[in-house]
Amino acid sequence: MNPEFEKICGEIRSCFKCPLGKTRNNVVCGDGNLKARLMFIGEAPGAEEDAQGKPFVGRAGQLLTKILEAAGISRDEVFITNILKCRPPDNRKPLPEEMNACKQYLLDQIEVIKPAIIGALGSTSAQFLLGDKMSGTISKIRGKWFDYNETIKLMPLFHPSYLLRNPSKEAGSPKHQMWGDIRDLKKAYDEMKG
Ligand code: URA
Repeated sequence: MNPEFEKICGEIRSCFKCPLGKTRNNVVCGDGNLKARLMFIGEAPGAEEDAQGKPFVGRAGQLLTKILEAAGISRDEVFITNILKCRPPDNRKPLPEEMNACKQYLLDQIEVIKPAIIGALGSTSAQFLLGDKMSGTISKIRGKWFDYNETIKLMPLFHPSYLLRNPSKEAGSPKHQMWGDIRDLKKAYDEMKG
């Protein structure tokens, strides 16, 4: 375990900066390769993630794993986390004050892991990470490349929960677009690995 990373997780475990600290069962710090060149950032833990303390292990997570594996990306080689480290009640959208309270943990994680590519899963994540650089809805900007900063490229992607609600695989459907986006992301990831 990387001591710098362990320190961040220790801070998260003892965090009560927002009211979600009182309702969580487990914090969900993040999971995967601490030297990953590719990092995925979702919105917030759901019920299963809160129960297990791991990101993307429920239905949406299983779909994410399937999509990644189909593109030749294993979960072990990437790092996966969320904007919020605690579950919002009833899976509601994170509140701005919760995201702000949690922000430094994510920034610290990005600083330690130093990915070259970030996949932002869903509009909450894309909006939070891109700020004013996000112009238009997730449907408009998904699959496009943005500069997160000078060294990290970011691609907004549909959230797997959205794909569960829109299961059609027909040409032009969100699921069909997601497969194409992940393939493009994998291509850039391979080129970057050399
Ligand atoms: N949805 C998310 O955004 N993150 C998870 O970890 C699970 C579901």
